Amino acid sequence: PFNFSAGPAMLPKAVMRQAQEELLNWNNTGVSVMEFSHRDPAYVKMARQAEQDLRDLLAVPDDYEVLFLQGGGRGQFSAVPQNIAAKTATVDYLDTGIWSGYAIREAQKYVREVNVAAGTVETGNGKAIAPRSDWQLSDNAAYFHYCPNETVDGIALHEIPADIQAPIVADMSSNILSEPLDVSRFGVIYAGAQKNIGPSGFAIAIVRKDLLGHPQPELSSIMDYQLQAKDGSMYNTPNTFAWYLAGLVFQWIKEQGGLAAMGEQNHRKAKTLYDYIDQSDFYRNSVHPANRSIMNVPFQLADERLDERFLLQAKDAGLMGLKGHRFVGGMRASIYNAMPLEGVNALIDFMDEFQRNA
Ligand code: PLP
Repeated sequence: PFNFSAGPAMLPKAVMRQAQEELLNWNNTGVSVMEFSHRDPAYVKMARQAEQDLRDLLAVPDDYEVLFLQGGGRGQFSAVPQNIAAKTATVDYLDTGIWSGYAIREAQKYVREVNVAAGTVETGNGKAIAPRSDWQLSDNAAYFHYCPNETVDGIALHEIPADIQAPIVADMSSNILSEPLDVSRFGVIYAGAQKNIGPSGFAIAIVRKDLLGHPQPELSSIMDYQLQAKDGSMYNTPNTFAWYLAGLVFQWIKEQGGLAAMGEQNHRKAKTLYDYIDQSDFYRNSVHPANRSIMNVPFQLADERLDERFLLQAKDAGLMGLKGHRFVGGMRASIYNAMPLEGVNALIDFMDEFQRNA
């Protein structure tokens, strides 16, 4: 089967096989990796290697902390304002989809003003992110936040916004490690793990060091970037299994040729699927071509009464997790790093056959 689920999502089979073995016997110890203390030298060595592999993949500059945290992507919605903005601050957010909206509502609890600088616009050719020239940025924002890949809406901002004075914060939960990235353009990058990294509940944050040191007083210690950095992300017991699995995924990406290879493959997969949808009258995607996600491809059937049959038959054909998010309906194919091109081709073959029989 091919699993098109949005997250938790498909992970590399080779990683799953190794994890299955090491669940019983890690490092030839006869003990499960899940049973190891996070203070054990062998575990610490593995954990530090995972951090180094992530740093290598993203070429993270030395003036950034790389943190392994808990609470998933949403945990960071509150961690960010509490760590790097004063209660009296104004912060700028783009509102480009469902996840941006959640991030905005969470931030509103912690700062004086959340300024929504821009959102999406309907064009004759699909939904697009408002052009940079129309963004209403604040003069003294503590940071600028956006979600480069809206998982539900399938809307992406492919360029890092230019001419932003405030530190840029990005929720990369659904596009981290999908292609090369210039980390030095960001103040904070964070991601829930359950798409391109590993198990849900886990999160990573990559934080420029100069932003640390002025947290809001009520910030909980486990969310405190500086405290976690000082303790090597082991202030409290980390999610040891998730960290281990993330490490295997980072090694797998390195073996595939790193982010350049990943990006090439991901763009090829996405183009193949969008090209097929675009030439069809039966399926449609309503995002402007310039803002289409390469990770999450929502599509609608011409007749939504066929949705249920489509999903049932897809499942029978070994194509799982295609139901769109409950807020938007329709279909969504999530094609993260672990999804091979054959999976996309199998989906297209199925879509073609379904259309012919409809
Ligand atoms: N941000 C984005 C872009 C997401 O796609 C998700 C979850 O799918 C989240 C945040 C929330 O992540 P979590 O469920 O780990 O809190």
